[in-house]
Amino acid sequence: MSYSSPTSPYRADANGFFGEFGGAALPPFLVEPIAEVATAYAEASQDPDFLEELQALLSKYVGRPSLLYFAENLTRQLGGARVYLKREDLNHTGAHKINHCLGEALLAKRMGKTKVIAETGAGQHGVALATAAALVGLECEIHMGEIDIAKQHPNVVRMELLGAKVIPVSAGGRSLKEAVDSAFAVYAGAPEEYFFAIGSVVGPHPYPSMVRDFQSVVGREARAQILEAEGRLPDVLVAAVGGGSNAMGLFDAFLTDESVRIVGVEPGGEGLHGTRHAATMTLGTPGTLHGMHTRVLQDSDGEPAPVHSIASGLDYPGVGPQHVRLAELGRAQYVSVTDAETLAAFRTLSRVEGIIPALESSHALAHVMQLAPTLPADAIVIANLSGRGDKDVDYVAELIHGE
Ligand SMILES: *Cc1c(COP(=O)(O)O)cnc(C)c1O
Repeated sequence: MSYSSPTSPYRADANGFFGEFGGAALPPFLVEPIAEVATAYAEASQDPDFLEELQALLSKYVGRPSLLYFAENLTRQLGGARVYLKREDLNHTGAHKINHCLGEALLAKRMGKTKVIAETGAGQHGVALATAAALVGLECEIHMGEIDIAKQHPNVVRMELLGAKVIPVSAGGRSLKEAVDSAFAVYAGAPEEYFFAIGSVVGPHPYPSMVRDFQSVVGREARAQILEAEGRLPDVLVAAVGGGSNAMGLFDAFLTDESVRIVGVEPGGEGLHGTRHAATMTLGTPGTLHGMHTRVLQDSDGEPAPVHSIASGLDYPGVGPQHVRLAELGRAQYVSVTDAETLAAFRTLSRVEGIIPALESSHALAHVMQLAPTLPADAIVIANLSGRGDKDVDYVAELIHGE
């Protein structure tokens, strides 16, 4: 696992730049603590003991490898390519996030930290991190806007049951942006105690490369599983892109398989015409956000724009810098689907396969449902089913009944 490489066009350079994107744009007080994380991870990623310990947790605790499931009913209904689903929804905690949270928790411990800290919006990252911290034996502190605390009460209860301290943030808009600032302020005050755990392939170097590496088990498994099942590589990979971690996790092992087409699916929300979407790859412009140079949906003052998605986990005005690089190099393609298309896919998979997908993952499925019928019957598509939809059923019921 070589997280940076001077030779691969798809990897970051030693300073964490994917072409001109990525890097570590930080206020002076954060430069040193984050550089310390980069050094520690560079060592850990070369240490067989660290990698073995992580792999052992992934198999014995998370339940890996996750299934690569041939969706035969869906394939028949769509009438085209053979559709496989990478079942990250079957992981302990029900999504892919546990993969990188365990990696970050183990690294925190290796660095001698006693606490992990993070912000959370909808609470998914907070719950996954609190789970990893409970297992590994670290304290966990999650900063969350007061508005989000009210909206996501079940996740607050989960985090507290798991032993995490949830810190309500009352500044400004009382949401994710303020929670990020609040968590970073605490972290900067005591970096010797805390490890800052970022929830996607975003933020300053080394996080985009490190979180990708922790998620890359998804693609390594899928590659071996499809070779076993079909005797050849897939034609297309499809994954939803918020920050981009489940997508990079699936894509990474296939980047140098040039015959494999790679598609990321963004939240098109209520359509790309107004501002009610979060299609950063499609409509974002170069900017700096959360310590990285990337594409950003921003207003005329360069402030991150308010964004919208039916899936709260995709509701982010930035995107991981490696995705921007892959798009520039023509190695991956980024499309969007609307909330309505997503909801239809959510219902279809539930009914046809008996699998209730997360609304985030339903973005990938919505694109597969458009794409598969256009492909020949011997084509193979793998979609990343990044999480289960139990968390979304009440919200979906409201939408369906128009409450
Ligand atoms: C958080 C989340 C996402 C979005 O995050 P990425 O970093 O873009 O993968 C996707 N699916 C599920 C189930 C999530 O919880």
